[in-house]
Amino acid sequence: MKKYFFPLVLLAVFEAVAVVLWLTRDNLFYLFNFSYIGVSVSLGVFLFVKKYRHARRIVQLLVGLYMLVYLGLICGENMQIEGFWYYLFTGVFEAATIHYAVAKIFGPLLFGRGWCGYACWTAMVLDFLPFKVPGKPENERERGERWSRRNIGWMRYVMFAISLIFVAALFLAHVGNIEKIMFWAFIIGNIMYYGLGILLAFIYQDNRAFCKYLCPITVFLKPMSYFALIRVKCDESKCISCGKCRKVCPMEVDMLDPSKRRKNGTECILCLECKRNCPVDAL
Ligand code: SF4
Ligand code: SF4
Ligand code: SF4
Repeated sequence: MKKYFFPLVLLAVFEAVAVVLWLTRDNLFYLFNFSYIGVSVSLGVFLFVKKYRHARRIVQLLVGLYMLVYLGLICGENMQIEGFWYYLFTGVFEAATIHYAVAKIFGPLLFGRGWCGYACWTAMVLDFLPFKVPGKPENERERGERWSRRNIGWMRYVMFAISLIFVAALFLAHVGNIEKIMFWAFIIGNIMYYGLGILLAFIYQDNRAFCKYLCPITVFLKPMSYFALIRVKCDESKCISCGKCRKVCPMEVDMLDPSKRRKNGTECILCLECKRNCPVDAL
């Protein structure tokens, strides 16, 4: 029974958010929205507890498709970063601003980058590519300095700044019908993200290369998830130092280091591949 505690807690957290937003915003949509996401995420964690291999991918598809197709394309809500700036500038605490506050700014203090592992519609597609575990560092060196990771990590800040400047310019220029521009920005932005994500995945032989070097949302996600309460930890009394956990980690996290400053600690997407592959259940 103890092992079902976590999915139940998750469900309770999402339901609490759903009810609070429904009552404070007087809008039934929030009850539906956060209940749907809560049930999807809790179902995934429940399936994981039952050791179902594709648990995470099921949640990723349930939540990612809902947000991309229903909220983005059908309801016309831009949930990309430019949508966040748009709603922030209009002073409306709705849609993208609530989404960012819950999933990407304050939520990560609790569940780290769970969004990236279980909900993001960009990664939902990238995770179907063949490079589930990144290419070896030796291969990186063979590809030479031009494609060195350190050389392009700064690009996430450029993407972040471009999105902010783009939306600020629309407001400063008093452009009409920004709502419609935001809808098209959502479609064009997503096509661009998928294109760049697939290109980077093949260059670096790493499905998550876009997440590591280019995604502007990591500007919020990384510092907040540094303080995350939910983290993968190693029970040193059980660990036999076989190294399997590190080999299967898509984000190259040093999960054996207990400190907050562990290597790539803010990259962990809570996919739990390391835990699933540990032969002695030390994680
Ligand atoms: S880093 Fe960006 S693209 Fe990758 S999963 Fe997170 S939000 Fe999605
Ligand atoms: S394999 Fe483990 S450490 Fe790596 S991202 Fe997944 S949960 Fe985090
Ligand atoms: S897979 Fe488990 S036993 Fe092996 S190094 Fe990692 S934590 Fe230790």
